Amino acid sequence: MGSEQLETIFVDESGDHHQMIEVHELGFVKLIDTMGDDEEVENAARISYGKGTRKVSQTRNLIRYLMRHKHTSPFEMCEVKFHLKLPIFVMRQLVRHRTANLNEYSGRYSEMSNEFYLPQGDYLQKQSKTNNQGRGEDHPRKGALQFEFNRIYDNAMMAYQNLLEEDLAKEISRAVLPVANYTECIWKVDLHNFFHFVRLRSDSHAQREIRDYSDAMYELVKPKFPICCEAFEDYVRDSVTFSASEMEFIRDCVVGDLIEEWARYTDEEFNDEVLQGKYNLSKREMHELKTKLSKKEN
Ligand SMILES: Cc1cc2nc3c(=O)[nH]c(=O)nc-3n(C[C@H](O)[C@H](O)[C@H](O)COP(=O)(O)OP(=O)(O)OC[C@H]3O[C@@H](n4cnc5c(N)ncnc54)[C@H](O)[C@@H]3O)c2cc1C
Repeated sequence: MGSEQLETIFVDESGDHHQMIEVHELGFVKLIDTMGDDEEVENAARISYGKGTRKVSQTRNLIRYLMRHKHTSPFEMCEVKFHLKLPIFVMRQLVRHRTANLNEYSGRYSEMSNEFYLPQGDYLQKQSKTNNQGRGEDHPRKGALQFEFNRIYDNAMMAYQNLLEEDLAKEISRAVLPVANYTECIWKVDLHNFFHFVRLRSDSHAQREIRDYSDAMYELVKPKFPICCEAFEDYVRDSVTFSASEMEFIRDCVVGDLIEEWARYTDEEFNDEVLQGKYNLSKREMHELKTKLSKKEN
């Protein structure tokens, strides 16, 4: 991926160690703080379910249950905070996620950076013929394209510097800079809305550049919340949903045979061990699956 997953450690001014992944040639994602952990989600949930339930459900089972049933508020009790360096056009997509809190570098107060995002290699693709919002086949003239990008960046930076030298205010001089210019921000969000962000922005439909940021952010968060992330991957990120019409089709074509096939298994063959080992499903989930497939929408 664009970030090449070069995970490193950096030390901030107060001597604290943080993890960082470089994204593209000039950007980065630093995880500067997290609040809570898997257990914190469990603790928050137990306010709802009471102490008596502790014996029957372990942390993992409870977290998976919460994720599966969209009981999202316990995940909001944890937070993740990043320092990001990213091109302005990626920042514009990031700010759409209103549930996050952010503070951005001020181009009114300080001079804008002289760094610009230059797409490399297979990031230079032609306009997709099937998707107006996407890229298609590889572009054969990469050198010429990069020359065009750099030509504009050099001219824009020169114009910006000339305007500053004319003593034009920074807040208006920056208007000549392109959206590939790098900016920086601190971005904080609770774990539930972070998962929502990752689902949208690590998806293949999202623009590749923000996907690289989202993937890198997720990579850094995963070791801090391993059980929540496993549940998120299973029940949200890697899951699919079917519309009512699609379900009707599936029921007509597949489910009859499936239920028949099911009936052939004895309880022993379909015990927890088999289900867990083969499908990563608990008995309860298997029961839920049967209910989903059997239920007629009308
Ligand atoms: C592939 C892709 C293509 C996109 N294309 C475009 C585009 O062409 N043009 C464009 O403008 N945007 C586009 N977007 C942005 C998209 O429409 C959302 O604004 C963005 O993904 C943020 O999602 P969100 O609102 O769910 O997130 P958040 O703002 O974090 O909100 C999370 C959830 O909180 C609730 N919520 C938050 N604020 C409010 C509110 N004020 N009122 C009601 N509910 C609220 C909603 O349930 C929301 O889903 C695109 C996004 C993706 C992933």
